[in-house]
Amino acid sequence: MPEWQSAHLAEALNSCDDAIIGKTLDGIITSWNPAAARMFGYATEEAVGSPISIIIPPERATEEPEILARLRRGIRTERLETLRIRKDGRRVAVCATISPIHDRERKVIAATSVLRDVTARNEAADHYRIAQERLQATLTSIGDAVIVTDIKGCVEFLNPVAEALTGWPQDEAQGKPLEVVFHIVNEVTRQRAENPLAKVMREGIAVGLANHTLLLQRNGGEVAIDDSAAPIRNGSGVTSGVVLVFRDVGVVRAAENMRAKLSAIVESSDDAIVGKDLDGRITSWNGGAERIFGYSRLEAVGRSITMLIPPDRLSEEAEILSRLRRGERVDHFETIRLAKDRRKVFVSLTISPILDAEGQVVGASKIARDITDKKKAERELADAHLLLQRHAEDLERQVALRTAELKESLEELETFSSSLSHDLKGPLRAIESQAQIIREDFGQHLPSEAKSMLDRIIARCSQLSRFIDNVLSYARLRTGGVALVRVELKELVPRVIEEYPHVRQANAKIAIEQPLLAVRGHEALLTQVLANLVSNGVKFVAPGTCPSLRIWTEPCAERVRLWVEDNGIGIPKHDQQRAFGLFTRLPGSGRYDGSGIGLAVVNRAMHRMGGRVGLESEPGKGSRFWLELDAAEVGDGILHASPRSTAPASEAPAHKA
Ligand code: ADP
Repeated sequence: MPEWQSAHLAEALNSCDDAIIGKTLDGIITSWNPAAARMFGYATEEAVGSPISIIIPPERATEEPEILARLRRGIRTERLETLRIRKDGRRVAVCATISPIHDRERKVIAATSVLRDVTARNEAADHYRIAQERLQATLTSIGDAVIVTDIKGCVEFLNPVAEALTGWPQDEAQGKPLEVVFHIVNEVTRQRAENPLAKVMREGIAVGLANHTLLLQRNGGEVAIDDSAAPIRNGSGVTSGVVLVFRDVGVVRAAENMRAKLSAIVESSDDAIVGKDLDGRITSWNGGAERIFGYSRLEAVGRSITMLIPPDRLSEEAEILSRLRRGERVDHFETIRLAKDRRKVFVSLTISPILDAEGQVVGASKIARDITDKKKAERELADAHLLLQRHAEDLERQVALRTAELKESLEELETFSSSLSHDLKGPLRAIESQAQIIREDFGQHLPSEAKSMLDRIIARCSQLSRFIDNVLSYARLRTGGVALVRVELKELVPRVIEEYPHVRQANAKIAIEQPLLAVRGHEALLTQVLANLVSNGVKFVAPGTCPSLRIWTEPCAERVRLWVEDNGIGIPKHDQQRAFGLFTRLPGSGRYDGSGIGLAVVNRAMHRMGGRVGLESEPGKGSRFWLELDAAEVGDGILHASPRSTAPASEAPAHKA
């Protein structure tokens, strides 16, 4: 080699950045350039003559014998990525190429190692890889959907959220035009929305897309989205694709719609809806508040709520605020507030605490309902009530007065009628007995016409006498409590039928279904009642019909019902109640004797014994009268029935006229 050439080579060795090391086939260093000294920290004098193992870390000790064995076979080791160790112990990442050196006979006599420090390169590669991984992880875990396209607008990447929202998996979407995977329309017009890619390419900057965008999903579903797109530029600023970021805003949009609706409701409410903070400062003021209190929103917001409170009610606000601070609500609190024109407004307040996201009370919402009209109506109603009450009291007093007067006149009338009846009875008896004497003593001297007139006088007298007896017994029944005792109907009923001649009418068939149950009653009153019912039953039969009666009792809860059934003319439904009225004779009864007192006596007597009377009847099919009294119990003592007077009941039965 010419001298200039070897000088040139030496300079190249010295100025080279790669470590160039010569070594024997036994691994002894024979040459060591300045780059090797810089890379491994050994000076040339230190290194030359030393084994190459000084730069081999213990964990790579097996590499060198292999390399040497290959060298001996003339094989070069190329671009071996490995680690070497510096004098100070630090590891150096290197890329080594070890080549054999041949003599003239092509025999391998030594070797050269060229080692390039690749620490910086490896670090850069690591950084790049980490950055890539981070980017991948970020895109995968990000809450927003991301689609990346190439410059032609074909999909390169979708993150999982984008896969879920579009319905396209990454492997199927890849390479497809963006508008296939990302099909968007306007929510209102349903027209296809502009391809974001085109917009980005046109404007060359990041763009937010139109509002009210709907993404049509692959499965036919729809999602409201909010999106933006940006160009991807390489290091030299050339656009290489587009990144599209979008999110499902269905919930947000629904919340916005709901908020808009709520505000509209608040605004259109007739009630005043007012927001205030915990210092009582007004923070919101709706149209209702403007109408009720007269302040505009501008005038009210920011001022203290106390502007609405009458001075004598200021303490209410302190109480309300302290309750709100405790998180309590105030419900339907009726009070008075002042309008802008100092007019008093009756309001019903409902005040609820407003909580922040942490649940802290930060203010209050107050709903005030104007109840001025209601209060006025209440006052008027109360006045009307008072008036009505006074009228009612007046009326009651008048009724009491009139009733007392009426009672007095009734009593007078009854006293008058009974004394009249009494006074009539004496002369009547005298007329009757004198007529009988005339008939008996002088009958044979009288012409037959005079005798029959006498008979008619005697008959009329006894008829009038029975009528007077009935009137008297009815009058006596009016007042007075009666002593109730056990009455054996099984004995009383046959006796009444036996003893009263008008009851024992010719041909009448009377069947008593024994045993009759015992009742608690008053024997004389019951005798009177039974005599009346039985004589009516025998009397009110159609001409030519033989009267037939059936009498029985039946238990009825704690009471006993005594039934008297006849085969008479019957009573129409609409007349049944009034048949019990005094002096009442029903249509069709004209041909039968009577004065209309009998059933009135029955009714009054039953009432006095605490009992009831009623009937079932149909015209032409007979009647069934029933009497209801308490059942007698063994050992029944004397009881007093409800009517109040202490006057004893008449012992005399009422005779039918
Ligand atoms: P009187 O028997 O004196 O007519 P009552 O007071 O006993 O008066 O009866 C009132 C009316 O009720 C009778 O006039 C008659 O029209 C009707 N009435 C009462 N009992 C019967 C009966 N068993 N069958 C049909 N009608 C009757």
